[in-house]
Amino acid sequence: MANATGVAEVEIRDTRLKSIMAFHGKASELQEFSRQLKKPAADRCFTQCSDCAQMCAGTVTNHVRGSAVVYHSPMGCFANTPVQNEATYNAALARGLEPFDVRSVCSNISEKDTIYGGLKKLRDAVKLAYDRFVPTCIFIQSSCAAGIVGDDIESVADEMAEELGIPIVPVFCEGFKSKAWSTGFDAGYHGILRKIAQKPEKRQKDLVNIFNFLGTDTFTPMLAKIGLRPNYLVPLADLETLRTMTEAACSTEVCETLGTYITTVLEEEFGVPKVHAPSPYGIKWTDEWYREIARLTGKTDIVEKVIEEEHKRIQPELDELKKELAGLKVYIYAGDSYAHNLGSLVHDLGVEIVGMTTLHHDMKIDGEDAQHSTLQEMIDVAGDIEEFTVCNKQPYEVIKHLKKVKPDFMIVRHMNMTILAAKLGIPSIFEGEINVSAGYDGLLLTGRRIKDLIKAKKILATLAEYNEFPYTDWWLDQEENYI
Ligand code: SF4
Repeated sequence: MANATGVAEVEIRDTRLKSIMAFHGKASELQEFSRQLKKPAADRCFTQCSDCAQMCAGTVTNHVRGSAVVYHSPMGCFANTPVQNEATYNAALARGLEPFDVRSVCSNISEKDTIYGGLKKLRDAVKLAYDRFVPTCIFIQSSCAAGIVGDDIESVADEMAEELGIPIVPVFCEGFKSKAWSTGFDAGYHGILRKIAQKPEKRQKDLVNIFNFLGTDTFTPMLAKIGLRPNYLVPLADLETLRTMTEAACSTEVCETLGTYITTVLEEEFGVPKVHAPSPYGIKWTDEWYREIARLTGKTDIVEKVIEEEHKRIQPELDELKKELAGLKVYIYAGDSYAHNLGSLVHDLGVEIVGMTTLHHDMKIDGEDAQHSTLQEMIDVAGDIEEFTVCNKQPYEVIKHLKKVKPDFMIVRHMNMTILAAKLGIPSIFEGEINVSAGYDGLLLTGRRIKDLIKAKKILATLAEYNEFPYTDWWLDQEENYI
């Protein structure tokens, strides 16, 4: 990744990380394909639904405090923004911060603009965002329409940054470019690294960058135990925090799929070491995470005592939870690395993982540690998973797998999957806020949530009796997952 920030666009995950969108087999088989960087299956020739990199870019840009976002797109690409507004407001409140609204406008590219170009509309939209919101910075998100006609967003951003005197950050997140919508995270981060992050003037030795979504403040107490403090990025951070994240002692993430790109560039181009340990989900991974951060921050003399005390503290409740959850079977449905995090987590509660689906799979990660794999780490901790799939939320495939493995409950990272599960009579945990599941306390909390959840089994079974899916038995009996 030499000189990653020297180019306008980050390379898409499909080629950079050899991302794949389809697989069905054992977790260990996928890991072997990944180790060899060999594509395990053909792509789907048919999809029921999809998502867009623009949405993932928006989860980075829309939540920067003080920013405004211009969608240089037709109005339809802009439709997700109101949902993101509610999430931002509530997350700020939950973290004890002043709440704020997402501030975005759409240039509303029309058919005519795709012939004559839409740059005037873009300039007008940037000016409108500046006048209306008085932002500290403006992100311009590209779209399929803008990308296909080749609107020169970079030049407009540079010209208007000079004219308005604030950073204007182009984000190249056209949905057609990549099948892996997580590419949008990288596009958002790339813009910030190129146009906002500054070369560090000093090092803040107790500051740990935490790349997360809109989560509550669970990392302050975790890091305080070894005398450190979190720097939450990017959602809810302001411009100054983004500028100076390069001064942190190290960078880590709640999910490697989310943070692989930015933590690597911060290490390679800004000298901020990346924490080469799995995210802190489950006991062993939390231990390793603590040890690696302690090594990077000179806290090795105290970390073992903290780990020992924490194990002792949680053990009585953990033993109780394991007794109560014994024999339960779970199916996990989440983004790539976060599904692996959940595997590590529920294994420590004694729950059996009967199936797992990840929304895509990166066969490698960024940086010199490219062969590091959260999939392998999960297999090491939780064992192999027989029914492992990679599937970007295709409902007919999900239903097929769930009917086959019949889990007692599911943990899902995306809300729409809870509805499918409910229609099948399966209770599910919506893992929307993932900071709360981190660390030793996150393990106990997850156990308590499962305990409460399974009480809903009976009502959901009744609901399922009255539900009909449109799929025929013939369709669901087909051997292949992607027809
Ligand atoms: S950028 Fe492209 S894929 Fe994304 S919402 Fe707009 S048209 Fe759809």
